[in-house]
Amino acid sequence: MLEIGGLHTGYGETRVIHGLDLVARAGRVTAILGRNGAGKTTTLKAVMGLLPVLEGEISLAGERIGGLAPFEIARRGIAYVPETRDIFPSLTVRENLALAARIAPVGDAPRWTMARVLELFPRLGERMDNGGNQLSGGEQQMLAIARALLMNPRLLILDEPTEGLAPIIVRQIHDKLMELKADGLTMLLVEQNFGFATSLADEVCMMGRGTCVWRGTPGCIQADRELQARWLGV
Ligand code: ATP
Repeated sequence: MLEIGGLHTGYGETRVIHGLDLVARAGRVTAILGRNGAGKTTTLKAVMGLLPVLEGEISLAGERIGGLAPFEIARRGIAYVPETRDIFPSLTVRENLALAARIAPVGDAPRWTMARVLELFPRLGERMDNGGNQLSGGEQQMLAIARALLMNPRLLILDEPTEGLAPIIVRQIHDKLMELKADGLTMLLVEQNFGFATSLADEVCMMGRGTCVWRGTPGCIQADRELQARWLGV
């Protein structure tokens, strides 16, 4: 679904990603792991057109998207849930969702409707008239995911969905993402929570020094303590 080849990107004069190759296969969950500062978020930002592709290529379902503006990339079917969640705090849950539904690309029968996201996240249904700023961290994360789904994405990108959440909420988010996986949604996930990431993912890319230093299955990495110690400091 998503192919990144020889990607170089960074901030101004500072290059952070040096020749990254990464594939997120259709219908699979791909997790990017790595220590703080390895370049995981930077990679996602480049995919979303928020940072320049200085060298290399990014394509979605065979179509080049490297260098396109963020809204064009979103229109081609990538929805992004950033680390910061980016909920509109002064809008209600209903308004946050309605806005996403309005800007979603017009396509064939949309897979995701307001009713369907509320079925997935009933908690949001109870909070429809609350402001974004009145939500707990877990509710904000649910809203951010629900909003992304309303874009009817071909690829859902999640940056640290468990960050700052209590263990019980982390489990709930995990179960929801498992439902999406069972439904066949292609996902690319950056995650510090090793157990969360390896139990969801089909494939893992380990990032270090701005590139992919290892790729393989969650089973392989779970069994390899040396690899974990070297690249995750676990
Ligand atoms: P983390 O979990 O800490 O976010 P990460 O793997 O996502 O880790 P990135 O946020 O991609 O790491 O950061 C990679 C490198 O880019 C780091 O050295 C960081 O200091 C640098 N960096 C990140 N954001 C900026 C920025 N806005 N300007 C300059 N350098 C940045």
